[in-house]
Amino acid sequence: MPENREKQWHSLGVEEVIGNLQTDTQTGLRDGEVQKRQTEYGKNQLTEAPGRSILSMIYDQVSGPLTLVLLIAGLISGLVGEFEDTVVILAIVVLNAVLGVFQENKAEQSLSALRKLSAPAARVVRGGQTKDLPASELVPGDVILLEAGASVPADARLVEAANLKCEEAALTGESVPVDKTTERIDDEQAGIGDRENMVFASTTVTYGRGTAIVVATGMGTEIGKIAGMLQSTQQEPTPLQRRMEELGKLLGWFALALVVLVFIAGLLRKEPPFEMFMTSIGLAVAAIPEGLPTIVTIVLALGVQRMIKRNAIIRKLPAVETLGTATVIASDKTGTLTQNQMTVARAFVNGESVDVSGQGYEPKGEFTIGGETPSHELDHALSLLLTAGALANDAKLEKSETGYNMVGDPTEGALVVAAEKAGLIARELNKEWKRVAELPFDSQRKRMTTFHQVPGKHHFAEVLNGDIVAFTKGGPDVLLELCTHHYRDEKIVPLSDSDKESLLQVNLSMAEEALRVLGVAFRSWDSVPAQDQLTPESAETDLVFIGFAGMIDPPRPEAREAVREAKTAGIRPMMVTGDHKATAMAIAKDLGIMETGDVVISGAELESIADEELAEKIKHTAVFARVSPEHKVRIVEALRSNRQIVAMTGDGVNDAPALKRADIGAAMGITGTDVAKQAADMVLLDDNFATIVTAVKEGRTIYANIQRAIQYLLSCNVGEIVAIFAAIMLGLGRPLTAIQILWVNLVTDGLPALALGVEPPEPGVMDRPPRDPKAGVFSGGLGVLIGLQGAMIGVLTLIGYYWALTSGRSVEVARTVAFGVLAFSQLVHSFNVRTRNRPLLKVGFFGNTWLNHAFLASGLLQLAVLSIPAVEPIFDVVPLGWTEAEVIALLATVPLLLGELTKWLFRRS
Ligand code: ADP
Ligand code: MG
Repeated sequence: MPENREKQWHSLGVEEVIGNLQTDTQTGLRDGEVQKRQTEYGKNQLTEAPGRSILSMIYDQVSGPLTLVLLIAGLISGLVGEFEDTVVILAIVVLNAVLGVFQENKAEQSLSALRKLSAPAARVVRGGQTKDLPASELVPGDVILLEAGASVPADARLVEAANLKCEEAALTGESVPVDKTTERIDDEQAGIGDRENMVFASTTVTYGRGTAIVVATGMGTEIGKIAGMLQSTQQEPTPLQRRMEELGKLLGWFALALVVLVFIAGLLRKEPPFEMFMTSIGLAVAAIPEGLPTIVTIVLALGVQRMIKRNAIIRKLPAVETLGTATVIASDKTGTLTQNQMTVARAFVNGESVDVSGQGYEPKGEFTIGGETPSHELDHALSLLLTAGALANDAKLEKSETGYNMVGDPTEGALVVAAEKAGLIARELNKEWKRVAELPFDSQRKRMTTFHQVPGKHHFAEVLNGDIVAFTKGGPDVLLELCTHHYRDEKIVPLSDSDKESLLQVNLSMAEEALRVLGVAFRSWDSVPAQDQLTPESAETDLVFIGFAGMIDPPRPEAREAVREAKTAGIRPMMVTGDHKATAMAIAKDLGIMETGDVVISGAELESIADEELAEKIKHTAVFARVSPEHKVRIVEALRSNRQIVAMTGDGVNDAPALKRADIGAAMGITGTDVAKQAADMVLLDDNFATIVTAVKEGRTIYANIQRAIQYLLSCNVGEIVAIFAAIMLGLGRPLTAIQILWVNLVTDGLPALALGVEPPEPGVMDRPPRDPKAGVFSGGLGVLIGLQGAMIGVLTLIGYYWALTSGRSVEVARTVAFGVLAFSQLVHSFNVRTRNRPLLKVGFFGNTWLNHAFLASGLLQLAVLSIPAVEPIFDVVPLGWTEAEVIALLATVPLLLGELTKWLFRRS
């Protein structure tokens, strides 16, 4: 069907489109046909712009100040005839660039894997079944279902549009949503914005519902034609990454000044100019923390990958750091704190409460009153309730070999299942009671209405007096406001204020049992209301109340523990739900979110109080109930005005503003709409509250690990500077040659630094309050610690050097000893950095496998350099005797002893 690619689909009638694409709006494409078309049309995705090339990464690596310094050094060595040095320096430049490119490439890859993970899904009808599939699998002819919040997965011609509105700014620049229809448009040349019977890839559904037939996929879509290629979005650097860049620049200047200083001091001390020059270069290399930005990025990337395994996808890298500072988690109830496994357990009709048995989505269960089968009147009312509930409904119960599967909103799914328990099959009901119009659900109104043709034969002749019936379901309090009558004993009778009062009382007592309660009502119509009458204001009035359905939605078993963990970590969990106050409170208390002294604020109260009052009240609020998405924005603002760092969850289209405003917006992976996911910093693959807490823990660990890598690299650098600077100033000559400094800096340091970046979480990470976001990386004594530990390494190196010199050994031997002490004491020191104040013996000395490996690898490399005769001249090393080896070993263990001693003193103080 390649000729289809150029068809003007909007100017064809629905039948023509169906014929052209050989599909069926009821059953969709058959699987065999799908496969054929997948080979023909390829994947439904935009070809990605190539990522950063290896060449540009290499360029980035070698264009830094470090390489420049080294190249100049190499050149000068060559000029004065020291070709060996030139070769070694060049080798080190190459090695360093290769390592850098390798690491960066890995970081880049894991970040681009992230982008793929958050790719959108599509709801498709294929082979008569409704399923959710990755959007990339769509082919022309596929029948897709659209609902509010979905991003349109491909270009498609609408065959059904119920109040469907799309926001097409990505394509047309117009941000006001467009009303969609199914009618044919005569003008073949109509612009994209005028093709109201089409939906386009990369736009989003903001309201309503629709069914459409895919006409173009991938690069054949309008957005594909415009964009040509998807520009892979560059990740924003995190605050820490930015600070490290700045630190690097600062230290670069510092290095330069130091080099000049040492060079002059050396000349004054009558050191040979060339050697002095090389030493200064080495010092510069020591002072520039070249590896730091890359290490920060790698630790971030590795951490983000670990988070994926824990079901948290980070969409914006800075969120990793923010997570560690979170002080409040404002979470949805339904699905996040609860299992979202709704089951109708109770119905209330005709003044009686009916128990419904059965579990999960399997449509098997009994309706009983106090163990007895209901009477005829009750049965009648019950089947009206169930029929209405199943019809004002968009969920689909699919049976598969493994059991029952629900596609759609679990709240609605529960009603479909309940109806089927009474033999009322939604799929069949929908054929008899054809849906002719609807007012879709939105979380502002908290209800929805569908209009149906009343079939010729049915059981409700006494009460349905019109050709059309409208069924409305929604929050009971909201719904009862709209009811003027109720259904009693197969009759419609007026609903008095006291009736209303007692029904609200019933609702309340059901809600207090943690049931999620929906009310159901109907209204008869002579004909489908005209378009201008088809609004909530005029159509959802004068309703006849039928009854309530109360569903259980058990709390997630892991949520209680997560709430406790959050509280010990100084993070306040808070429930923000559209559900009834009593239901919300029952669950909040059960989970420990709400404790004595905490209060509940309802959406209505929220509206009546000013921002300042809210900011004050929110300090003691554990639950917000019956709130709308707009309220969430105010909640975030109020918390932020109290200097809280807020993580907030959301799923719907209207949640997007609150998700953006929160410090960490977390969208639901399963029930979340595409719009919410796009606005979020993080996606919870399992919709689970506990996942947020885990992510916070990871966030804290990642930050601590970055600090460890920084602490290690900088303290080593300080050590080198101290040793060289002090020796020259004391007139002891140069304790290390340039090559030796290069080697330690670029080879033996790097591995332990990386390994420290993947330390497992410390047992206490969730026992302390959140980090202050304004405190710098070096706060809390880290800066001082780096200085002290650096001084220790420097002094140890000096001692080694001094001992060899004063015991009559040659300067070459003394340098070799210094070289050995420096390298090994740094390696030993890496274990100090694992914990700040807990004894290693208690923590487990070898708890970080990566560090053990890094220690071994770097240690063996250093041993090789010191003992293989062939390489000795390259590193200005001479063979050592046993005494020297023992001195090195002795001095190299000092960091550990000192480290443990200070930790001990620190704990005692
Ligand atoms: P939540 O899911 O946290 O309760 P929502 O904004 O999704 O918040 O829903 C708000 C209220 O609207 C619910 O408490 C319920 O009373 C009602 N409601 C939810 N889903 C539906 C639906 N599909 N049809 C009718 N009413 C609904
Ligand atoms: Mg909901």
